[in-house]
Amino acid sequence: MHKLSKDTFIYAMSARNEPALRVEPGARIQFETWDALHGQVKAGGDGDNELDWNRVNPATGPVYINGAQPGDILSVKIERIDVAQTGVVMCTTGLKTVAIENGAAHFSESVQLPLNKMIGVIGVAPKDGEISNGVPDLHGGNMDCKEIREGAMVLLPVNAPGALLAIGDLHAVMADGEVCMTGVEVAGNVTVTVDIIRGKDLPLPMVINDTHVITVASDADLDIAVDMAVANMQSYLTKTEGFTVEDAIMLTSLVADVRICQIVDPKKTARVEFPKKYLQK
Ligand code: CA
Repeated sequence: MHKLSKDTFIYAMSARNEPALRVEPGARIQFETWDALHGQVKAGGDGDNELDWNRVNPATGPVYINGAQPGDILSVKIERIDVAQTGVVMCTTGLKTVAIENGAAHFSESVQLPLNKMIGVIGVAPKDGEISNGVPDLHGGNMDCKEIREGAMVLLPVNAPGALLAIGDLHAVMADGEVCMTGVEVAGNVTVTVDIIRGKDLPLPMVINDTHVITVASDADLDIAVDMAVANMQSYLTKTEGFTVEDAIMLTSLVADVRICQIVDPKKTARVEFPKKYLQK
């Protein structure tokens, strides 16, 4: 297995970033990751912390996948997420460090939260220019989608040779919306297997887990993000799964939940979750 240290990180995704590691398709990689605040808040540091906002959302990488070419799809299977023993949650007026032990986050004396470990930032080089890791878009990025968790497969577009995959911003706990601006932000390790899918036209980014196929879309306007995620699901159901347009729309209305990933990043993110058991194949 390849291991990538958190010493190799980027703050923005771009085709111009130097690869930190080159791997073959099918490779397993362990990404060691910073928390979203780049370790600026230490345990016991409740209260006033001067944060440098130019140093947030580091993502470990990028990883160059040999042979990946624009037009291909990069699949990233999330095998395992391990989180550190302390996380941070903050809002505009407050900050709290949270101990994580025995599968729970200790929010307060009386409130302990089961973990739903997930990846906030996962993405590849965008088509044009560079995109800050704080922003989600067609290339992935800061989607803050709680379905990007152990066992899930994330599908991303390859926009530049090698794809240039980067991962960071783990959350030990987060609910849909992420309304206070953060989850329980935490450092950790993520183990993934990467592969290349060729000759398929999919509405990316997508997430596939044991039970659902999920389309994910982001826009500054949440209404538009929702419309995009719904349109992407209809595109997937008609082009890939063989439904008629009418059946795709009606079935989506009947069985696919439309959910909000987050409403606090520069672009908001929505998703549509279609249960696999209603696919025709
Ligand atoms: Ca995030």
